[in-house]
Amino acid sequence: MEQMEQTTLILIIVTLFLLVVIVGILTLLIFKLFGKDKSFTNPAISKTDDALHPDISKSEFHPEIIERIKGMEKVKPKRAHLFCPNHTEEPGETMCAICDKIYCRSCIKPFKSLHFCKEHLPLIMRFDWEEVITIKTSTHDPEQGVRLYDVKKEIFENDDLPTYVETHYKINVDQDYIETYLVLFAQKESIQTIREKIKNKV
Ligand SMILES: [Zn+2]
Ligand SMILES: [Zn+2]
Repeated sequence: MEQMEQTTLILIIVTLFLLVVIVGILTLLIFKLFGKDKSFTNPAISKTDDALHPDISKSEFHPEIIERIKGMEKVKPKRAHLFCPNHTEEPGETMCAICDKIYCRSCIKPFKSLHFCKEHLPLIMRFDWEEVITIKTSTHDPEQGVRLYDVKKEIFENDDLPTYVETHYKINVDQDYIETYLVLFAQKESIQTIREKIKNKV
């Protein structure tokens, strides 16, 4: 009888020991999962960075479109300032599609396929923007595209008329090639004025 009580006691002690071990393992697992969660939130932060600076090589674009995008970078105006106009110690990273100034990450926001500075983003959202002109370009002959960007800069600096340029791609399914178009947009009420100004230039 006494021996049976002893066996029961040993069994209880062993069971308790096993419970402690199991609880320990579970706690360890929970901590590991929690740690994973933590490292998971960090890429979430860099996710917004990706949105600001989309990496075209990772996108789902047709490879020919990626080539075109790379080609179009040559057409776009060169970076004139190395530092953000608002933060003289922050390197400028992204160009506002309207004023062409290079801002730091905190001073510029993505909208549609472009980026706009704090001054020009409200302008984009508040007004109706319409197409002024569409030109077909090729990466082999980027001259016309360069001229369009020059004219855009000119009418912004001299006439204070804001415009922006969008790049559109069309896949010609029949002949299996991709066409690139540059589309100049302006506020609805200044479309006619701008068309007059650029008439013989683009
Ligand atoms: Zn701007
Ligand atoms: Zn800044």
